[in-house]
Amino acid sequence: MKLFTRCPYCKKETSFFAFVSDRAMLSKEKGNPFQLTCKSCNSDFACEIDKVYAKHSKIALIIGLTVLILGIPFSFIVLNDIIEDTGYVVFSVGMIAVPFAIYQIINNQDRKRVENFNRFRIRR
Ligand SMILES: [Zn+2]
Repeated sequence: MKLFTRCPYCKKETSFFAFVSDRAMLSKEKGNPFQLTCKSCNSDFACEIDKVYAKHSKIALIIGLTVLILGIPFSFIVLNDIIEDTGYVVFSVGMIAVPFAIYQIINNQDRKRVENFNRFRIRR
């Protein structure tokens, strides 16, 4: 996931990618502290694991909202004939709930990911 920390030299936030889900994994993979290069000022600095944090992904939010925005009219279009023919309102409500559910799942997953990473701290 995308992780963030603050550069001690220019105080700007810098980011990097790591295939880890919490600080323990990050520590195992990179060591603690580990070397990082600031994207703003190009300084190398020793970054402590506990100063690394995860943030909510904009991509997850965008995907979630896209599903929500496109999903509802799409559900209506697809189900329009079925609803007219059969009057299965309950069924249509169910289908509208699907984009909502997907949006919720994406949002919850993202929140859990961020909470999981930020909760765990390395004891030194
Ligand atoms: Zn910097």
